[in-house]
Parts: sequence; structure tokens; C-alpha cells
Amino acid sequence: MSLKKLVAGNWKMHGVSADLDQVRAIASAAQGFEDVDVALCVPAILIDRAARAVPGFSIGGQDVHHADKGAHTGCTSALMLLDAGASLTIVGHSERREYFNESNQVLAEKINRCLEHSITPIFCCGEPLSIREAGTQNEYVAKQLKESLYHLSADQLKSIVIAYEPIWAIGTGKTATTEQAQEMHAYLRSVLAKQYSSAIASEISILYGGSVKANNAKELFGCPDVDGGLVGGASIIAADFITIIRSLK
Ligand code: PEP
Repeated sequence: MSLKKLVAGNWKMHGVSADLDQVRAIASAAQGFEDVDVALCVPAILIDRAARAVPGFSIGGQDVHHADKGAHTGCTSALMLLDAGASLTIVGHSERREYFNESNQVLAEKINRCLEHSITPIFCCGEPLSIREAGTQNEYVAKQLKESLYHLSADQLKSIVIAYEPIWAIGTGKTATTEQAQEMHAYLRSVLAKQYSSAIASEISILYGGSVKANNAKELFGCPDVDGGLVGGASIIAADFITIIRSLK
């Protein structure tokens, strides 16, 4: 991704050939957004068809394996993503962390494989509701960053995107308030500044994710430290997603 501002869609386990029309409509609209990168993370099996349908548009995966090859039935490597036409992938989505027991350490390896194969990782972090209620979300998310990212050099860190996705807001219709989003994004930038430098922290793109919709995107994207969004449910229908992208202009 070349721009700091980015809106990426996460289609999760949705999308078949008939939905390529939505991909085409989104890619076509994206050409009109000069200051904003747009990407769609589709199911692995759809990457090749989506990439061929919209040459030049950023298609991504939703996960990647931490090994390049081997006896890992059902998994997809970074090399396979690249070969299929992907230029990015989500890493560490909370649904993967929860249902597939992905640890911060495994995610660090996944990020390494992505960088080795020039796939931009969108690294997801975020706290569950119990942590938010206990008021320890900053420590929780800082640990995710420390254990999955701090082995990266400054140059490598600049090649990744971070998505803050409070788990209690994903697919629930509950969104973080603009105050909650801004507070966490500013905090993430401050920990990166401490570990790397303020220049690097200000360069890195930090997306917000969690029930972003056409009717709340403008205020969330208006937060000074929110550089865009990772959008699940509302990215499947082109018209809704395009309205969300437009909110970042
Ligand atoms: C997501 O899947 O990353 C996500 C944020 O989902 P939703 O927008 O549906 O909450």
C-alpha cells in the first residue's frame, strides 16, 4: 500500500463468482479516490478470480500460514497468496485468534513470511469486552504489539498496516465511540514512537475496525489518529462500501 489512508474490506466467509460484480464496482469507484488506498480481502479461493477481474486493484487474503510450505492441510502460504494475485493479507484477525488459537508468537512468524514475500500484512489487535470493562485495554493491546511486531526493524515496521479492532465491536453493531477510538489509536502511536521513533509512528497507518458503517464512518475517520478502516459486514455490498470509502476523502 503506498498511501497512509486505507480502507480495506474483509469479506470473511462470503463471496462466490457472482459477487465479482461487487469487486468490479468497488475497484472502479476506487479509481476516483486519489488520496485513499482501497483493498478487498476475499476468501482465499476467490483471490485469483478477483485479482483477474480487477487488474491493478489491491486484492488480499484474510489469513496466511506461518510456514512457506509443508504438511498443513487446508492452509495458504504467503507465496500462494502472491501467486494467486494478492498484495496484502489480514493477520491476526480476532476470529482467527479465537477459533484457531493464534498466539502473538505465531502471528509474528506470519508477519515475517508476509514481508519475505512482499505481501503487506494488516496486523489486527484489540481487546475483548472483559478487558475493556476492567480498564486494562492499553496494556492488553500493547502486549499484542510487543509480542508480534517488536522484532521488526524500523523499515519492516513501515511496511505493515495495523488495525485496531476492539473485539466487542466486531460484527456486533456496537462501535467504539470516537473518543475510545482516538484514545487507543493515539496510545498505539505513542508506544510505537517509544519503541521506534515518532517519525515512524506517525508514518504508520492505523485503521479502525468494528461495525464501521456508512452512517458512522465519517466521525470515526475524522479522528486525527484514525487513518482509515478495516470493514467487515459493510464491505460486501459495493454501494455501502463505496459510501464508507468516500467518508475518508
Ligand atoms: C472485521 O471483520 O474486521 C470487522 C471489523 O467486521 P465488522 O465491520 O462486520 O464489525
